[in-house]
Order: sequence, then structure tokens, then C-alpha cells
Amino acid sequence: MFDKFHDECGVVAVYGHPEASKLAYLGLYALQHRGQESAGICASDGNQVFTHKSMGHVADIFTSAVLRELPGSLAIGHTRYSTAGDTVLLNAQPFSVACNKGKIAIAHNGNITNAAELRADLERRGAIFQASSDTEVVLHLMAHSSERTLAGALRDALLQLEGAFSLVFLAEDRIIVARDPHGFRPLAVGEMEVSGGRKGYAFASETCAFDLLGAVYLHDVEPGEMIIVGPEGMTRERYAPERNRAHCVFEHVYFARPDSIVFGRAVEESRENLGRLLARECPADADLVVPVPDSGVAAALGYSDESGLPFRQALIRNHYVGRTFIEPSQAIRDFGVKLKLNPVRHLLQGRRVVLVDDSIVRGTTSRKIVRMVRQAGAREVHLRISCPPTMSPCFYGVDTPTRSELIASNHNVDEIRKFVEADSLGYLSIGSLRTAVADVNHEYCYACYTGDYPTELVNIQELMAAKKK
Ligand code: AMP
Repeated sequence: MFDKFHDECGVVAVYGHPEASKLAYLGLYALQHRGQESAGICASDGNQVFTHKSMGHVADIFTSAVLRELPGSLAIGHTRYSTAGDTVLLNAQPFSVACNKGKIAIAHNGNITNAAELRADLERRGAIFQASSDTEVVLHLMAHSSERTLAGALRDALLQLEGAFSLVFLAEDRIIVARDPHGFRPLAVGEMEVSGGRKGYAFASETCAFDLLGAVYLHDVEPGEMIIVGPEGMTRERYAPERNRAHCVFEHVYFARPDSIVFGRAVEESRENLGRLLARECPADADLVVPVPDSGVAAALGYSDESGLPFRQALIRNHYVGRTFIEPSQAIRDFGVKLKLNPVRHLLQGRRVVLVDDSIVRGTTSRKIVRMVRQAGAREVHLRISCPPTMSPCFYGVDTPTRSELIASNHNVDEIRKFVEADSLGYLSIGSLRTAVADVNHEYCYACYTGDYPTELVNIQELMAAKKK
């Protein structure tokens, strides 16, 4: 069936550029942090839809020879990370099919929470599924729709979905994009100049993709909105009624790149705010502030600014850790973390260190990092986390383990402190998290910190699971 804790992904779409697949490739390259397991591009030259997808990193998959086989002025792309056991190429996106609505392809970021029910119903009606991913459901719902137009069939399909979806969709001569009515995952719209004064359009999970392909960020696809770009130009339509907004706050805490604008807000600004507020709520008597790179850097800058403690990069990250690395056959303790991070001993020797990271999930990596800093000579290690304790799994597209594996779901802060072996541990409060992202209108989802899910089905399922225990 479907993997419960779904894929982290990035999506991109390009319309009206003679080298659409190359631009989609550049967009995916900038979105690589959103998923490193597989990537794919579908392009159309107006008549035919061409697809290439593979396991691995974007830059390794899309050689010039591969991109030459993806001609046309329209393209969509996808990059994906999934939990272990579900890494097969069959689940790599985009998915493309030829059906009664024409040749179509789809790529999806998010998690459709009623996909299992929809799939069971479609299978009863004779649908045959190729993959275990929830995204394929959308194609089958469209094929089964009695609506004759593509946009009509898509609208029909989208209205049956629950949960999180930022979708990009390619037909022979048009791109359609849509976002779920809660707006869980981001999706931005950009515009670019194409030779001859014509306009091209780009859509991407994050605006950092636009910077690389020379597009200007215009606005977001609104929650519950569908945008179509085709030969007749661009049309925007609200396909679903207004719902409570639930933008994923974890995009600002960790997931998105700091050079992106997500939900209309600069990620770097949010992260520095998180650090400043953390310094006010959880001060430490220490000598220096050290980030866990890269995820803790912006918050550590904010913490340093607010506390007046010097900021030092005393952990250095190796950015070139590839998949092909062969570990020595003899077990080396904490090898995984040592591969990625190395301490700068002369900065840490005898010092009292505030170590800033964005989150603790299971606690195992954090413990290794605290040990590393201490072994490098730090006298005290005060761990500061720029969000509240992560207590509940995400069902909307962030890869989190089951509730029982989340250390904060069954341990209090002092127990976690002992586990990670820190001298002190401080988390940011929910109120400060809300302030840091300027959520004055209650438009963000905080379910991973509160267990209060913004959609009914997930709340009911979680309540039932809790009762069974
Ligand atoms: P741990 O101490 O084992 O819980 O690991 C904490 C580290 O995992 C932190 O440095 C986080 O930046 C990182 N992290 C948090 N959420 C995720 C996620 N969804 N995917 C990958 N890494 C994450």
C-alpha cells in the first residue's frame, strides 16, 4: 500500500521556453535539498511527451545527452526523497500516461491523506496501479472523470483529495499547477523573458529555483487555486472553497533553503528571528555560539546577535559526502556523523559552547554531535533548538518517523537533555515560533509540535491509533 510517512519532494514546471527541460533541470538542481533519492523530467514538444527519470542526484542523472532527448518548450520536473523500503524507480516522478484525456504527466509534493481509500475504490472499479505512491491516484481519478476537458477532469480529481498537494501537471500544449486548499506545501509562480520579447513562466517549490533560471518571482499559487498556462495565455481559477490555511512551519524552521521566499516570506529572516527569540527564552552562560551546519547557521547568527556571544563555525561540514562512499569494514564509532562533520578543536578547547540546531527528531544524531564537541575539548555544551519539541509525526509531506521513535513524544526536556548528554537543553516555545514567522492570522500548521492536525481525517486516525494502545 502507500508509505505512511511520505516523500519529501521538490517540483518545478516551465512553460514557453525553447529549452524548457534544461531550465527544469536547473530548477531541480536548486531544489536538490528537498529530495536526493530520485529525479525526473517530462517535456513536451506539442505533440509528444518525453520522460526521463532515474535514481540518484539531479546533476548525475541529467547529462547533456539525456537533456537532448527531452525537447520542447514545456517541461515539469521532480526530485524526491522517501523513507527506506520504498526507494524503487517505479515510484520516481513525474508519472506520465496516455489516457482518455490525452498524454499527461504529473509531479507532486505533499501527501494525499485519503489516498488509500481512493485507491481501494479505484481498484474496485478496475484501475491498475503501477507504483505504491499516492500521486498515481490523481491520474486515475482524472481518467475516470466524466468531465471532458483536462482542466475539468483535474478539478474533479482535486476536489476528492485530502491532505497536502502542490502539483505540477503537463499536457501536450499546457502546464497546469494546483495547490491544496490548506496550502500545506509551497508553490511559487515566476515569469521570465524569452527571446523575441515573449514571456515564459516557471513554477517551483521554492524561489531559489527561479534565481538560477532567471525568472522573477511574481506570487504564490494560492491555496485552493489552479493555474493553467497554454497557447491562450495564463488563467487562474479557485477550484475549491476557502479552508483554514495550514502552511508548514517546518519549511521555515528547516526544510527550505534560506535564500528562498516561502509562503511570501524570506526564510533567512524567519530563521534569524528564531535564533534571536531562542536567545531571549533560553539564555546560556557561555563563551561562544556554534551552529550545527547547515541547518543551524541562520538561527545561531540570530542567537549570537541577541546574546552578544561571538558566533564561531567550530563544526565544519563536508558537502561532498556521496552515496558511493565505502565504510571501513571494521566498525568505527559514530562514523556517519564524522563523515559529515568535523570539529575545529582550537575554537572549542576549554570553552563553554552554545550549540544551535533546528530540531531533534530521534536524538541520536544530536547526541553524536554533542559528544563530538565535548571530545574536541569543549568544557560545557548547551544545546539550543530553534523550534519546540517534535512530538507528532507529519502526514503532510515531511519525512518523520513514527510517534514512538520521536524522542520528545515520550520524554520530557530533562530526559532528552540526559540522552543527548548536554549540560543544558533549551527549545523555542510555540508562541515564539509563531512570532518568528509573523503568523498573525493563524495560517501555519504546527501539528508536529502540538499533535493537533488541521485536517479531520488525520486527527480521527491518530485518535483511533492512540486508543488502540
Ligand atoms: P536526531 O538528533 O537524530 O534527532 O537528528 C537531528 C537532526 O536531524 C537535526 O540536525 C535536523 O536538522 C535533522 N532533521 C530534522 N528533520 C529532518 C528531516 N525531515 N529530514 C532530514 N533531517 C532532518
